Amino acid sequence: MKFSRLFIPTTKETPSDAVLPSHQFLLRGGFINQQGAGLYNYLPLGKIVLEKIRNIVKEELDDAGCNEVQLSFVTPIALWNKSGRAETMGKEMLRIQDRHENDFVLSPTNEEAMVELVKNRVKSYKDLPVNLYQINTKFRDEARPRFGLLRGREFLMKDAYSFHASKEDMVREFDLMEETYKKIFTRLGLDFRVVDADSGAIGGNGSKEFHVLANSGEDTILVCEDCSYGANIETIYESDDEVDSINELSYEELQSKEVTQKCSCGGKLYFKKGIEVGHIFQLGDKYSSSLDAKFQDENGKPKAFEMATFGIGVSRLVASVIEQNHDENGCIWTKSTTPFMVDVIVSNAKKENELEVGTNIYNELKQNNISTILDDRKEKKHTYGFKMGDYKVLGFPYAVIVGKKLTNGLVEVVNRKTLESIEVALDSIVEYIKDIVKN
Ligand code: ATP
Ligand code: MG
Repeated sequence: MKFSRLFIPTTKETPSDAVLPSHQFLLRGGFINQQGAGLYNYLPLGKIVLEKIRNIVKEELDDAGCNEVQLSFVTPIALWNKSGRAETMGKEMLRIQDRHENDFVLSPTNEEAMVELVKNRVKSYKDLPVNLYQINTKFRDEARPRFGLLRGREFLMKDAYSFHASKEDMVREFDLMEETYKKIFTRLGLDFRVVDADSGAIGGNGSKEFHVLANSGEDTILVCEDCSYGANIETIYESDDEVDSINELSYEELQSKEVTQKCSCGGKLYFKKGIEVGHIFQLGDKYSSSLDAKFQDENGKPKAFEMATFGIGVSRLVASVIEQNHDENGCIWTKSTTPFMVDVIVSNAKKENELEVGTNIYNELKQNNISTILDDRKEKKHTYGFKMGDYKVLGFPYAVIVGKKLTNGLVEVVNRKTLESIEVALDSIVEYIKDIVKN
């Protein structure tokens, strides 16, 4: 792609409510823009990142035997009355009416709709298990939408629901999904922890959360220094107020608090801040019983499905990558999430020679399946400094700078993470880049 043809409205200004780096840099890089409170548009670069994350989630789930579906975003309130959640979901659930005064809900989650879908279609234990998922819009009228994509009102979630003939089989799937989630977050290049969690409003028992470690995280988790154990503090403190007051503390303040509990392995526990990017629950028959969803078991008897549910905050992940990977200049994308691997920056695109060499490098990298953008912009304001400023805020892993050194047969390669640059001979630049992107 050529920069001159892409809509990338970078800006130096951010609104005062954008306090977190991910929020600021995603706005400044023109990845997203705000449409209203908790409502965001994805511009071309933001959309590429979102799709990359979505594809990694999809590939791993498909590989684990899950089936992708897509449910209607608008659901009749009748479904929610049957499960009793029309009452309990409260104001987070946005209700709307059609022209005939029928009541609907903008899906905040989809347990009810998925149970209705499977009910009477999966009839026998022979048809089980089945795991259905979608990567679809959710709406939650959050009391405090904030931090950009981290807590939106409209957001993209992967939600999956599995149906089983026995509890043992449901637990097997729960464990499989834990492993699948670990693969997904590892592929995204994230530093994360799996922790024991509270089952909350969804109910049931057996629940784990996946937290991206970041000092700005809204949640507080306890992790063991010796083993892989971790727990959300919700599971340890009795009262919500106590949990809230700890969550209010900054990472630094938490470090001075003593943790009295010890890990069962004997190791020391310490506090970390985390961003919840995934949550898996063992539901049991909570929804299948209340919605009367049954199958025929081995003895020909009707039995309510054993269920589990599995969520990933796909749009929250876009911001989580940046919360964990940025510097004072902007974003630093991981290799699997970056919109482009290489930015070929033509220092002065009015110089025919520079533009031609840059274009050749760009074409060759593309032929080698390396996703590349060519900064060919040539307005007066598009100085080398301006282009480097954009490169730093946009955060692609590498830049190739085609500029003055060309007369000596050299170009420069910049590593976004370290901001170190090295001179490379023009005739070996493609091989050089092929080599570094592999690692
Ligand atoms: P939170 O405690 O952060 O509000 P939750 O427990 O309400 O999350 P779930 O119902 O488990 O979330 O939803 C599954 C996943 O969807 C979460 O793990 C999170 O990554 C994501 N998610 C939830 N609420 C939002 C939101 N308002 N904006 C973006 N992502 C969200
Ligand atoms: Mg919530």
